[in-house]
Amino acid sequence: MKFRVVNASPLDNPFARDVLGRIGADYEHRPCWSDAELIELARDADGIISSPVERYPREVSANLARCKVISNMGVGYDTIDVDAATEHGICVAYVPDYCMDEVAEHAMALILACARQIAAINSIMKEGKLTRLQPPWVERPIFKLRGQTLGLVGFGRIARTLVRKAQGFGLKVVVYDPYISPGTVVGYDVEMAHELNQLLKKSDFVSVHIPLTRDTEHLFGLKQFRKMKPTAYFINTSRGGLVDQEALHKALTEGHIAGAGLDVIEPDLDLGNPLLKLDNVIYTGHAGFYSETSGPELRRRAVEEVVRVLQGKWPQSWANPQVKDKFIARWGKKA
Ligand code: NAD
Repeated sequence: MKFRVVNASPLDNPFARDVLGRIGADYEHRPCWSDAELIELARDADGIISSPVERYPREVSANLARCKVISNMGVGYDTIDVDAATEHGICVAYVPDYCMDEVAEHAMALILACARQIAAINSIMKEGKLTRLQPPWVERPIFKLRGQTLGLVGFGRIARTLVRKAQGFGLKVVVYDPYISPGTVVGYDVEMAHELNQLLKKSDFVSVHIPLTRDTEHLFGLKQFRKMKPTAYFINTSRGGLVDQEALHKALTEGHIAGAGLDVIEPDLDLGNPLLKLDNVIYTGHAGFYSETSGPELRRRAVEEVVRVLQGKWPQSWANPQVKDKFIARWGKKA
């Protein structure tokens, strides 16, 4: 019987037909906007190519009669209920290590834009609202980067990629990541903070590079923003859900921090979010991952994971290796 692989995301996968064709699998792309639509499309699919846009709750996994793998075109998998997928013998694959340079560059761009007040100055110029005869054109103070401190919350792939770029601008770097071994920072010339508060108090820029999980949801609230310097900037290229949006709004309007450079908000692309009305916020609409080369790499690798599983191998990068017993019990050794 021919394999059937579906893609329910808004984005088609240009590699899918070719790569899946090599194992004789059919491919169908149909964007789905509800659980019911998704179940209808994927009920008898052998594999699913997913994206960080649509959701895979328990209800969906429970209604997939033949699905052996959900392969996410993303670095994470927080849109997929992994426990439920595991219970139904479904591998959850993802692509954790693409776009490291892109996101690190994006974080650096936000740091630079905040430091140099690029967005505010640009608006003043374009709107013809010059109120001063010479720089600084903006009210907020501008400091040179050299000698300032960048605090990295999380020291995984992206943060480690960012360090060298930031140090090139003369920034000192302090890191908080309670899950890494001391050896991880060797050779990076960074200072380790033992508590988040220590980093928040020290940093002129706080840049967040941790996953969104049950433990990290709303990790940044008013208490944390109050610990930051009033001249400091909060940079988030990770996930909007890490931040209590109301608390950030309060921190920005009451002057607990100077500004924020956000690639992500909660929910993403909610253009009615009050944060976007503030002139000390820069928002880039979850564009951090993007470059002409990152997208193709992501999509190709996501399809390759589907092929791997349908050919009876385990994924290269997966969220639930603990699914093995359940997978073998439900599908046999070969997919
Ligand atoms: P990673 O898994 O390599 O590193 C995450 C690090 O966070 C790990 O070292 C972990 O120990 C640490 N960590 C976990 N919980 C923590 C906590 N409570 N406090 C401090 N440290 C903690 O991840 P990565 O590849 O560096 O990516 C980081 C995040 O960037 C991803 O989770 C994703 O949400 C986001 N991301 C965004 C985009 C974008 O387009 N904006 C693209 C890719 C990734």
